[in-house]
Amino acid sequence: MTFTTRFAPSPTGPLHLGHAYSAILAHDMAMAEGGSFLLRIEDIDQSRARPEWEAQIFEDLEWLGLTWPLPVMRQSDHLPRYRTALDQLTVMGLTYPCRCNRADIENAAGAPQEGVPQFGPDGRIYPGTCRARLTSEATDKDVIRLNMMKAVQAADLRSFTETSPEFEGIHHLDPEQLIMAVGDIILVRRNMGTSYHLSVVVDDADQGITHAVRGADLFEATQIHVLLQSLLGLPTPIYHHHRLIRDAHGKRLAKRDDARAIAKYRAEGATPQDIREMAGLPASSG
Ligand code: GLU
Repeated sequence: MTFTTRFAPSPTGPLHLGHAYSAILAHDMAMAEGGSFLLRIEDIDQSRARPEWEAQIFEDLEWLGLTWPLPVMRQSDHLPRYRTALDQLTVMGLTYPCRCNRADIENAAGAPQEGVPQFGPDGRIYPGTCRARLTSEATDKDVIRLNMMKAVQAADLRSFTETSPEFEGIHHLDPEQLIMAVGDIILVRRNMGTSYHLSVVVDDADQGITHAVRGADLFEATQIHVLLQSLLGLPTPIYHHHRLIRDAHGKRLAKRDDARAIAKYRAEGATPQDIREMAGLPASSG
C-alpha cells in the first residue's frame, strides 16, 4: 500500500506557522516514503469558509514548495456521500435527532460530579435528553447524534497505531471511556449536513489515506474516528499526531494569530527555509 497522507485545512483564516509545520511534515513524510501528499479543503462550515482564504492556502503552500495532485477534494462537494454514511448508521439504529441548545444541555447535565468528566473531544458530554427520538422525525432544527452506548455494542472495536513519539504505540478503544468521556457526539450539525467527525472519516477512506498526520490536539478525537470507521466498515489509517507549535506564552496558535500568518512572514521577506527553521523542521533537500 503506497504511503498516502493529507493536509486538511479549513479555509476560515490564514495559514499560520502551525499549519505550515503540519503540511510540511506530512509532505516530507510522504516524500521520504515515495508516497503521495494530498490536499483536502475542509469547508463544511459554509458560514465561515471563504474562497479568498482557500486561494491564500493554495498560494502559501505552493510558496512553501509543496506539491499535490489535482483536483483537490473539497468537502462541500461531497455532502451526499456523508449523507449515505449517516444513513448507514441510522439503519443500524445508532442515531437520533436532538434540538437541545447549550443552555438545555448545561441544565440537564446538572451539577458536576467528582470523577465524572464534563467535557470530551466533542465538547460538553451530552446528557441524553433526546435519546428516545427517531431520526426519521428529524427537522432542520435538529442536529443528529450518535447513540454511543449502542454504537460501542454494535461495533467490533478496533485499535489504532500511532507513530508520533508523544503517543507512540497501539491504542485500544475503550467502550467505558467512549460512553463516559466522549458521549453522544454530533454526526450532523445544524445547517451543515455533516460534521467534522463524519466527514473526516469518510474522506480519509475515500482518498485512500494510509497515514493521517495532524496536530496533537486531535489525538483525543481519534477514538471517535476509529469507532466510526469500525461501524462504517472503513479502513483505519495509521495516525501521527505531531507536536503543536506554540507562541511565546506556550499557547497553541489559533486562526486569529495573524502575527504568525505565513502571508505576514512572506511579506516581511522570510524564505520557505526560514519557515522550516522557525517550525523546527530540517532543511529541505529539494
Ligand atoms: N480541518 C482540520 C483542522 O483544520 C484538520 C482535520 C484533520 O487533519 O483530521 O484542524
